[in-house]
Amino acid sequence: MTPVLGKRGTIAGGALTVLGAGALLFLFTDRSGASAQSSLTVNLPPPVSDRIFAAPEARGRPIVVIDAGHGGRDPGATGVSGEVHEKDLTLALARELRDDLVRRGRVRVAMTRDDDRYLTLDERAAVARRLDASLFVSLHMDSAPNPLARGATVYSLSDVASDAEAARLAASQNGADDGEASGGSLEAMLSDLAMRTKMSASADLAERLVNRSAGRFELRPNPHRFASFHVLRRADTPGVLFEAGYISNADDEALLRSPEQRTKIALALAQAIETDVAARTRR
Ligand SMILES: [Zn+2]
Repeated sequence: MTPVLGKRGTIAGGALTVLGAGALLFLFTDRSGASAQSSLTVNLPPPVSDRIFAAPEARGRPIVVIDAGHGGRDPGATGVSGEVHEKDLTLALARELRDDLVRRGRVRVAMTRDDDRYLTLDERAAVARRLDASLFVSLHMDSAPNPLARGATVYSLSDVASDAEAARLAASQNGADDGEASGGSLEAMLSDLAMRTKMSASADLAERLVNRSAGRFELRPNPHRFASFHVLRRADTPGVLFEAGYISNADDEALLRSPEQRTKIALALAQAIETDVAARTRR
């Protein structure tokens, strides 16, 4: 909790100044209209640091960026119990996966967020670009009107969606971003060939993840699906979006809230990530 406007003059560093400007912008564009009257003090988390987590023996190893979906004023889906938000479960799973990967020592890890903060899709993808990461893995929890829907899904990047549901999911995720929605300039920087290579690598990772997960926790039918996710497109590195299960289903919600289940899921993710990085970097 940092009263940014009060401390701004006393802390060096451009990042905080930028955040201060963002806070002002947010203050005046808040749809509720309430904050414009409230105060000149805005509580913001500290600036993003691009911290890298690694075991000593992992020095120089490829960097994997773990993206805990949603956060801050974007809670994501709400569990069927009404007691839990997607943003909290994605962060819990992201931390578990980070700790697993660091313990195993084969890759280095960065997180787009390690607390409850709001980030645009481009801010998430920018972490991978700044760190020249080898992989980007975005973690989410699903939700559907059908309370019986359950199981995990892995989405890879594609121009064309695998099915109507995948298209809807991508549209809702892309639309949830209130930053720049088009990303056109970044996409233009990647040639067709580079984008095709990235999509193929994204699909490979999704297949590895499905193979590692099968038999260890519940997967949906046809668990590898694809669609055009902005966050994957902009990350400038191969990546997948992993929906760990449906918190709109009572059984899945209970499982996803249990540390034991998250440990199982994190281990499958960690093994798939390590295999993928080893296959592509040939270190
Ligand atoms: Zn989500």
